[in-house]
Order: sequence, then C-alpha cells, then structure tokens
Amino acid sequence: MDYEAVIGLEVHAQLLTKSKIFCGCSTEFGAPPNTHVCPVCLGMPGVLPVLNRQVAEFAIRAGLALHCRIREKSLFARKNYFYPDLPKGYQISMFEAPLCEHGWLEIPADGKSKRVSIIRIHLEEDAGKLVHAGDFDSAVESFVDLNRAGVPLMEIVSGPDLRSPEEAAEYMRTLRNILVYLEVCDGNMEEGSLRCDANVSIRPRGEEKFGTRAELKNMNSFRHVEKALAFEIERQKRVLESGGKVVQETRLWNAEAGKTLGMRGKEESHDYRYFPDPDLVPLVVDREWVERVRKNLPELPEQKRARFVSEYGLPEYDAGVLTAEKALADYFEATVKAGVEPKPASNWIMAELLRELKDDEKDVRDCPVRPEQLAALFRLMKDGTISGKIAKVVFSDMYKTGRDPAAIVEEKGLKQVTDTAAIEQAIDEVIAKNPTQLEQYRSGKTKVFGFFVGQVMKATQGKANPELVNELLKKKLG
Ligand code: ADP
Ligand code: MG
Ligand code: ZN
Repeated sequence: MDYEAVIGLEVHAQLLTKSKIFCGCSTEFGAPPNTHVCPVCLGMPGVLPVLNRQVAEFAIRAGLALHCRIREKSLFARKNYFYPDLPKGYQISMFEAPLCEHGWLEIPADGKSKRVSIIRIHLEEDAGKLVHAGDFDSAVESFVDLNRAGVPLMEIVSGPDLRSPEEAAEYMRTLRNILVYLEVCDGNMEEGSLRCDANVSIRPRGEEKFGTRAELKNMNSFRHVEKALAFEIERQKRVLESGGKVVQETRLWNAEAGKTLGMRGKEESHDYRYFPDPDLVPLVVDREWVERVRKNLPELPEQKRARFVSEYGLPEYDAGVLTAEKALADYFEATVKAGVEPKPASNWIMAELLRELKDDEKDVRDCPVRPEQLAALFRLMKDGTISGKIAKVVFSDMYKTGRDPAAIVEEKGLKQVTDTAAIEQAIDEVIAKNPTQLEQYRSGKTKVFGFFVGQVMKATQGKANPELVNELLKKKLG
C-alpha cells in the first residue's frame, strides 16, 4: 500500500520583549534560577496580570507578515492543568478568540512554491522549567526554576497541509526566517526560543479522509523535526500494515534513541476546562493600530531577495542563499557598503565564509571576520599585494584569529612576488629539473604548460603573480 503523510505544526515562538507578558520581570535567558520572578509570575493569590503592549504588537506584526486577519477583540483564557512548573494551576492562553487567524505562508517545495495555511496565532505565557538531578528516570531530586514562567509566547498553528518531513522542516525554516526578519523572535532553537510540536498521520494515497494523528513533542532543531517525523511515519505504516490502528496520543521524540515513544493519551481541549480569564480585559486592537504596524513592517525575505537581484544585479540563486538568513544578508550588504563589488562579495561569502561557518557550526552572527575586514582583504587582492589564491589562505587565518588581513600578510610574508628576476630564477630552476616535460613541450605537447605553471607556483609558495608567471614562462619555454 502506498501511503501519504499529513502533517501540521504547532510552533511556539518566544517573543523578543525585554519583560514578561503579564508582569515587569526580565525575560533574559540564563540568569540564576528564580531571580526573575515576582508575585504575578509566581502565581501568588490576589495578584492581577497586566498585558505587555509590546507582546500584542509583535504578534500583530507576525500576523500581518503571515497574511492573517487580526481580530478586533480577542480573549485570554485559562487553560487548567497541574504541573509542578505551573504554580497557578493554569496557563493563560487564548482559546476561542485568538488574535490572528486565516493566514498563509509560502515555502519552496519541489522547485515550486507551495502555500501552507496558518490556522491561528495566539498569545500565551510560558511555564517554568523543571531541573532534574540525575537522569530523568532515576532522578532523586527535582528543582523548579520559574524564570521562564510568564515569558511571552506566540503559538502559530499550521493547517494539515504538509506532506513530508522535508516539507515540514522547510516550513519551520521559512517561518523562523520570517520571525527573525520581523525581529519578534531571535529564532534560537537551542535556547528554546522556537519550539515545535508536530502532528502527523498517514492515509492511503488518494484517500481524502485524514488518518488518526500522533502529536510529537520536544523537538528543538530542524533535523530533529525531520527525523522524528520520518520515524513516526514508518511506525504508523507498520502499525497499519500489521492490521493495527494508530491511536491518538502524544509521543516524545528521543533524539539519542532516534525514536518516538508513547508519552500519554492525547488530551482533548475540553479536558482543560478553558474559560475566559476574569482577571484580564479583552484585548482590543483598533484598525489604526493594525495599519500603523502594517506600515512599519520591515523588509521580508521575499522582498529582500527581489531587491538583491534588482539593486545588486545578483543571480536569483545568490539572492536566495544570501537572504535565507537575515544576518547573512546584513553581512553581505555591509561588505558591499565597505567597498566590495556585489558579485565578488557574494561569491566569497557563499563559498569561503559559509564553508568556514559550517565547518565550525557557527552562526554568521558570531563570525570572527567583520565585513570591513573582508573588504580590506579584497583591497589587497585588487592592488596586487596578494593573489586570489593566497587570499583564501589569509582568509582562513582571519577566520581563526580574527586578525586584519594586512597583519597576516606581513607576518607570514605572503606578499605577491612581482619581481621579474625572482620569478625568472624560479622558472629556470623548474625547467632545469624537468627536461622530459621540456622536451614534450617543445615537440608540440603544449598541454604540459599547465604543469610548468604549477611547479613555478609551488616553488614560490603560491606567491608569484600568476600573470607574470604565464608571460615569462611562455618566453622561456619558447
Ligand atoms: P490541538 O493539538 O490543540 O488539539 P488542533 O486540533 O488545533 O490542536 O490541531 C493541531 C495541529 O494538528 C494543527 O497544526 C493541524 O494542522 C494538525 N492536524 C489536525 N488533524 C490532523 C491529522 N489528522 N493529521 C495530521 N495533522 C493534523
Ligand atoms: Mg496540540
Ligand atoms: Zn514577574
């Protein structure tokens, strides 16, 4: 039987506000446990939450960028459940009346673009964090850190429109990129600023009715999303093929084991006894506010890509690579601003810079080479101080040490040799050492010319000016 996967993602994005959603406590990551807390986020009785206006503004910004309708009057609701990291016994979220609805997002799929619907975007507060001493199963003590309690989250729920683990990862990537461009979320998945629950079911290809879904929790990287979904799809196939039924449940992705494991039966929304939070007034967003936010939307990835083509004359491909990360696009523009021609800058960033970053598993935001330093390297190439080949060596060093290119060239003696006499001497030595090749060249096998160039460059440690080497070699060999 040929099956098709049906996937919908619920993405939680932490909003980049300085303070929490309903109190003035700091949202800063990594502070000592329980230092960013107050009676409100500790869930003391009798306190009153007050909505952080910036939280609403960020969600409106995201809603508009994702083509959503912004509701004029949305409601906060209490989602009741018990967990030790949730002192109030409920989480403030939105239920019947979410802030944004009916949007969409376009992702690349099979060389085309595919529209994925966004069902809703709502606001909620994060819970605290449990820290277990020892591994989870044998933990002897557990601690509660409430710094994260009350940190603002935006939950973005996609339609069940994704059809493969690759599409799901692509959706995550595109969404992350847009949120980072909007500066509403830092997109840092390792620190949990962007988390994803994936709902997945399978159905016989051609069938319209959806199958029963499982919800996968606990995935904090694109790779995990993709792997967990691929595993889960295979698991569901095996269940169906052996005559069983997929049960609706919540499953946990265990990255070490490379498996999803049943965690609990899937709760239904009525289990949470949602009801409007009597402590909060409805969130009223007038049209003026929406229009103001719309007018101030920053340039989005698609627009930036089009501009890179028209303004810098870059090929579509380059523009796509460079705008896939806002920080990378910024890096490129800073390099051009520092005086490098757009296409050479793009080539260098895509080949040399991205390779170093990838080998290092580093984000471009932490790149040790600043755009001005890269521009300085280009000037050294342009004025003939170093060749393009040597520039790559210098760049590697710049990346490792963060030093200026001129200092590296000076210290390592990498200046290009343009001294004719020195090059001629190297050529004479190479010719003397290779009589056979000389014979071949003179009997018409001019292909060995390349061999001689290589040998001379080697003899000069790559420092000889390539044009001069060519010119002088031709003379001598002839
Ligand atoms: P909840 O998880 O809170 O019960 P919803 O019913 O709103 O939420 O659905 C959550 C997600 O599950 C959405 O992203 C939706 O696209 C997806 N989804 C719903 N039904 C299926 C299904 N049969 N297979 C795969 N995904 C589904
Ligand atoms: Mg869910
Ligand atoms: Zn607080």
